[in-house]
Amino acid sequence: AKMSRPVQARRLEGVDKNIWVEFVKLATTYATVNLGQGFPDFPPPDFLREAFVRAVGGEDHMLHQYTRAFGHPPLVKILAQLFGKLLGQELDPLANVMVTVGAYQALYCCFQALVDEGDEVIIIEPFFDCYEPMVKMAGGTPVFVPLRPKAPKAGQLMSSADWQLDPAELASKFGKRTKAVVLNSPNNPLGKVFGRGELELIAELCVKHDALCISDEVYEWLVYDGKEHVRIASLPGMWDRTVSIGSAGKTFSVTGWKVGWTVGPPRLLQHLRTVHQNSVYHCATAAQEAVAQGFCRELERLGQADSYFVRLARELQGKRDRLVQSLDAAGMKPIVPEGTYFLVADISAFASDVPDVPGSNEPYDSRFAKWMVKNKGLAAIPLSAFYSGPHKNDYSRFIRFCFAKEEATLKAANDILQKWKREKAGP
Ligand code: PMP
Repeated sequence: AKMSRPVQARRLEGVDKNIWVEFVKLATTYATVNLGQGFPDFPPPDFLREAFVRAVGGEDHMLHQYTRAFGHPPLVKILAQLFGKLLGQELDPLANVMVTVGAYQALYCCFQALVDEGDEVIIIEPFFDCYEPMVKMAGGTPVFVPLRPKAPKAGQLMSSADWQLDPAELASKFGKRTKAVVLNSPNNPLGKVFGRGELELIAELCVKHDALCISDEVYEWLVYDGKEHVRIASLPGMWDRTVSIGSAGKTFSVTGWKVGWTVGPPRLLQHLRTVHQNSVYHCATAAQEAVAQGFCRELERLGQADSYFVRLARELQGKRDRLVQSLDAAGMKPIVPEGTYFLVADISAFASDVPDVPGSNEPYDSRFAKWMVKNKGLAAIPLSAFYSGPHKNDYSRFIRFCFAKEEATLKAANDILQKWKREKAGP
């Protein structure tokens, strides 16, 4: 049936496209090795799987029913204990923590609850792509500020630490209309772990302009080379204006469970609860129960060798190093990530492999990633996907790989890259 007016709400204008739909389809059709998708292909820890099995198979049939709307009591209790310790705050499980359907819903609640029509929200590029449409759907205006790459030291590979904010440029983005800044450390896609000095700079500007901070810390445990993950909510003046967001998916390698959380002061969380109670309201009880047990185990072992967080970071650091080596040997220059399970590589040396499309304004990296999956069977995501519309061509000679993969997957990727290199070199 045809209607005389648009069926969709105006807030959907300009946010209807999503690059994952296209790249997931390409990967499903063509990829023999998929390093595009941002999730592990290895199993989660046994203790967590067992906890879930106990939750659904045990005596307590109430674990099959709704639980407390703002978070299953055992989960908010252990999260309050853990983050209280990490943030140096006395936390009330019922007031300072809210459980969400993954970090994704936590972000959605933040933007809907805190951003008003006409508010500006500062987003650091490159960024996890949902921030921009979520700000727009809330009626806000995203204001972008880029991380700018510095040349690495002679003879060294570039590091994600070489991508930095220009302090004057960042300061110039703050103004009367700035409502919030979105921080994502460790950052997807670069793997940058913001240093204390960089965070202090952001914090000072938030305090000066009375802005909030939405701090997406889903990769908080995936930090390498002894680098410290600093929580911005622990800096002076920041607790009261920050919502910290986490994800059991990333923390325990169970992205399909979709358990996430927010931690913050009641003056902010009370409004997130309003959005939550009018949209999702309850999150899966058994998954929350299992995650709660996982955290109880981890809290006893914090920082010790048998902690899953410690073990996972160590294993992922090894996988990172193997992918760095594969890419470097193939001539695809890796930017060594300090955190996350993503790695961005410079494809400049492969420019001539992909046929030019005259007149196309599709960013080069996007054409490259499509060509690569179709012709080489290797899936990755173009870096331009993590930039706003007008900036998509600013750094469009990079692609992002995920290295949270089994050794066999990483070896298969290496085989493709080295074969490609030999072909390029000729007979
Ligand atoms: N934030 C970032 C930076 C992410 O990379 C992801 C997942 N790719 C999310 C949030 C969403 O996490 P979840 O799966 O817990 O919803």
